[in-house]
Amino acid sequence: MPELPEVETLRKYLEATSMHQKITGFTAVDAKRQITMPAEDFREQIMGRQMVKTTRIGKHLLVTLDNGKVLSLHFGMTGDLHYYRIPEDAPRFERATFFFDSGFKLAFADSRKFGRIGLWESETVYKTAKKLGPDALEISGAELAKSLRKRKTALKSALLDQKILAGIGNWLVDEILFQAKLHPEIIAAELTDPEIQNLLEATQNVLQISIEEEAVYRQMPATFLIHSREWDDSPHAEKDAHKNCPRCKTEITKMVVGGRATYICTQCQQK
Ligand SMILES: [Zn+2]
Repeated sequence: MPELPEVETLRKYLEATSMHQKITGFTAVDAKRQITMPAEDFREQIMGRQMVKTTRIGKHLLVTLDNGKVLSLHFGMTGDLHYYRIPEDAPRFERATFFFDSGFKLAFADSRKFGRIGLWESETVYKTAKKLGPDALEISGAELAKSLRKRKTALKSALLDQKILAGIGNWLVDEILFQAKLHPEIIAAELTDPEIQNLLEATQNVLQISIEEEAVYRQMPATFLIHSREWDDSPHAEKDAHKNCPRCKTEITKMVVGGRATYICTQCQQK
């Protein structure tokens, strides 16, 4: 599933390819399902417009048009972008397409079909409608502390709540908690100030590195827990993954926290 680092990569891709060209057409294979408003209204409001600015909030990509309206792209499980000119270069599973006056097209490819495209009055309206908290890369220590202090749930569950922190999914939380040496079942409200500071630094560090590596997980540093996960259901499968803590060599434990598969080092992350 595209998480914050992948969506940041897609944002940069869109920014590098599709800006400042007039939109001359739009098609969707299954508009009712893919577009979050009547397809005719959508088409009418984007026709002749240009994309002028991109923003990412968590896993959501927002594209401001030159009339001030904001396109939202949410990539679901398998969404991807592909910029091309000739039909031979069209991606597999092309589900929706923006046509530009340059002759190029921007395709939204999506094999599992959970991706969604919408149009909004402003970024703020979108954020409110989706109940999105601050982006995980931009949240301040004070904001994080304020949100966590109200939560008497397991820390991992609190961090997965998009109202607290937008953009963090399951493996990222495990990686952040491992790097911060925090147990996923600590009660969020009970974190000390130094622990929150530590958590914030680990969050920014893990996200920055993931973005720099363009979310190619086998390129992540050897100090990352990610190499010890079981990725059998994922395209990033690591067949010869070692299953020990990269720091202390203790065998990694798999447990369930808040219904989610969770990997920890019981030595480095004590309650
Ligand atoms: Zn360890």
